[in-house]
Amino acid sequence: MESFYENFRNSTFNSEPVRYFSDIYESCRAGFINEIGHIAHFYSRIKINYCSLHCFYGDNLLIDYACLYPAEPKNLIILTSGVHGIEGFTGSAVQRMFIREIIQKIDTRKTGCLIIHGINPWGMKHFRRVTVNNVDLNRNFDTSIKLFTKFNCGYAKLNKLLNPNSKVNKTNAHFGYFILAAIFNLINCKKSLLRQAMLEGQYSFPKGIYFGGNSFECQKDILQKLIIEKVKNYEKILFIDLHTGYGPWGKLQIFGTKTKNKSYKDYISSVFKNQKIDWPEDKKFFSNKGDLCVLVSDIVKDKVLIPVCFEYGTMKNDTVFGLLKSLHTVILENQGFHNGYTDNRLKRRVKKLYRELFYPSSAEWKQKIIEQSRNVLSDSCGNLELLF
Ligand SMILES: [Zn+2]
Repeated sequence: MESFYENFRNSTFNSEPVRYFSDIYESCRAGFINEIGHIAHFYSRIKINYCSLHCFYGDNLLIDYACLYPAEPKNLIILTSGVHGIEGFTGSAVQRMFIREIIQKIDTRKTGCLIIHGINPWGMKHFRRVTVNNVDLNRNFDTSIKLFTKFNCGYAKLNKLLNPNSKVNKTNAHFGYFILAAIFNLINCKKSLLRQAMLEGQYSFPKGIYFGGNSFECQKDILQKLIIEKVKNYEKILFIDLHTGYGPWGKLQIFGTKTKNKSYKDYISSVFKNQKIDWPEDKKFFSNKGDLCVLVSDIVKDKVLIPVCFEYGTMKNDTVFGLLKSLHTVILENQGFHNGYTDNRLKRRVKKLYRELFYPSSAEWKQKIIEQSRNVLSDSCGNLELLF
């Protein structure tokens, strides 16, 4: 493994924002490791390692992480990418930018970093959000196995609409057809049903969309152990989980976490001073069940903890139409994965739509993402140091 790390430490760097992005999982890993090699002089000690996913993964699909240890530990910034595999390409790019551009601005005497790369490497490699077991990891993180006994009644009623049991064909790939089917299914249902179906994830249909699993994926134990161990010596922790998908095209939205800590809202507004914070309960496509930020707030005790999710929007608009369009794309991709397609042209079209939904190809989009991340991360890391 060491030789893999060594090979990438001397490659050249281009400062153009788009150059932080790579479309290949292995190149993302290599780019991440390469960046760490460039900042060694800022820290008294740096450790690069990887977590082996012993369960089902092969082909060097690993979770890499870098620990940057300060001489006088006080603040810790944790930055995670790839909980939803395909979203990891953008997360990886933001992490690389952070290492290259932000670390030189922070007080590395007192502020450490834990940067965890590609939490769902299989999903990244195969351009899917879910794991090899079709599990949406952000519905799978919790401290109790009771999570898996939850029954999503709304989802069960809409299962046929959400998970058609046939190959993707020209009819069901047509958006107009989907809208009609959705109206037909929802006509006798409460308006809240679709919302519940999507908000809560589900634990009953293993091949369905938003499946949270029947047990914990191996990532849960790995991350729990790693985070508990690494936060030990710090007082204040800023935890940022990077995602893409919902929200207006090219816009960074910051989502707060529902926690029991009453001071959390004060901390978050002190750290993200000029930024608007969205809350999961206000937004339709978000759930708290099984969320990594919620798990972190449950396992990190007696610290000032600020867990947030950065969501980079990819939709042309933020309307109900846009949300239904993205839902249709998620359904088709999942249907195609499990049941196949009637022809290859259709397969290419659905895969392209899906990719644009979670990893847009536009250079302008990538530039906007990096610029906003640069601004927000510079300010918030500085504010964390000033807190108290
Ligand atoms: Zn996501």
